[in-house]
Amino acid sequence: MQRALDDAKVPLSWMPEQWQQVMVDLGQPRYRGQQGFEWIWQHAVDDYDQILVWPKTLRQLMQQRYPFQRLRSETVQEAADTTTKILFRLADQQRVETVVLPHAYGTSICVSSQVGCNLGCTFCASGLLGRTRNLNAGEILDQVVMASRLMPASMPPISRVDLMGIGEPLDNYQEVVRFIRLIHQPQGLNLGYRHITLSTSGLVPAIYRLADEDLPVTLAVSLHAPNNALRSRLMPINRAYPLEKLMPAARHYSEQTGRRVTFEYAMLRDVNDSLETARELADLLAGWSCHVNLIPWNPVPEEPFQPSPMMRVRSFRDIVQQNAISCTIRKELGQEIDAACGQLRHREEADHRSEGIRQFAPGISENGEPG
Ligand code: SAH
Ligand code: SF4
Repeated sequence: MQRALDDAKVPLSWMPEQWQQVMVDLGQPRYRGQQGFEWIWQHAVDDYDQILVWPKTLRQLMQQRYPFQRLRSETVQEAADTTTKILFRLADQQRVETVVLPHAYGTSICVSSQVGCNLGCTFCASGLLGRTRNLNAGEILDQVVMASRLMPASMPPISRVDLMGIGEPLDNYQEVVRFIRLIHQPQGLNLGYRHITLSTSGLVPAIYRLADEDLPVTLAVSLHAPNNALRSRLMPINRAYPLEKLMPAARHYSEQTGRRVTFEYAMLRDVNDSLETARELADLLAGWSCHVNLIPWNPVPEEPFQPSPMMRVRSFRDIVQQNAISCTIRKELGQEIDAACGQLRHREEADHRSEGIRQFAPGISENGEPG
């Protein structure tokens, strides 16, 4: 019941059937609901008054009963390689960040699922301020639509979505699953499930639950260490769901969905990057059809780590590959624009606390240099 009440206030989170039901309740034909959904997501209207196919009385009624507000961009930073990072302000003034990334195959977007994160991984900026709240499905989807408006015109349209921004998606399970269903709607953005990657720090029960949803999205598991002692040091969640629970869950997901699981591994100098650790990782994953993505760590000033030298990252990759495990190094994009997850938001929050709110012109930092 609570759920229904919450949804009623958030039109951007409505599925097409809910739009139709609202229209029926208002004495309107069902197809008006279909039109509403299409105009919100395909035409990206800013308010009901722009839904030109609706009669004026309906537009006014909807505005009175179900007002909505799109995300507002506060900062837009564009790097030389066109990677674009956007700080969005939500209706309640909270902020999240979204990154649009250029690739050889097209454009991908990395969206946030929570305001902050409660899981406190020791190398990540998102956990520094803790979690303020979950995003609802409409707020996650609106990052894709509003970022499409703001990204450089030279970029091809967004064709892949990664739930890899601020937050732990499986700690906001219901809204994240709803977002995945919403973005897949043919009358909306019509994105195939296989074009979506969900990255998790390893909330084991939620991985099993997701495997049963019939949503074949790619699962990326943030591993970062091949043994419990090291992983628990980097990721407190490992104490609740250690590797002997996490690995079978990831394997189950892979078997159930037919999707190859990706393991993410941020390379931290002299912490998890020794060649012996690479061999241990290869042993852990032996016999799996999985993929390892080595991530050059983006420095977070508050945290006591250094990125691994690139030579070491390559040697580490070679050892994993020699053990017949697919392994690549993530290309570093947009390095000059606080590209680490949660870093821009964290810096802005810190600045706001000390200096009060400032406005940035899109793409230009305060000293007039590009972001
Ligand atoms: N909470 C989820 C998704 C968001 S983080 C998760 O942990 O998987 C997305 C990825 O970025 C994770 O693999 C995370 O470990 C990694 N990451 C976090 N901070 C990073 C940093 N400073 N440099 C490189 N990767 C980082
Ligand atoms: Fe949260 Fe993921 Fe960052 Fe860990 S790595 S603190 S789970 S966002």
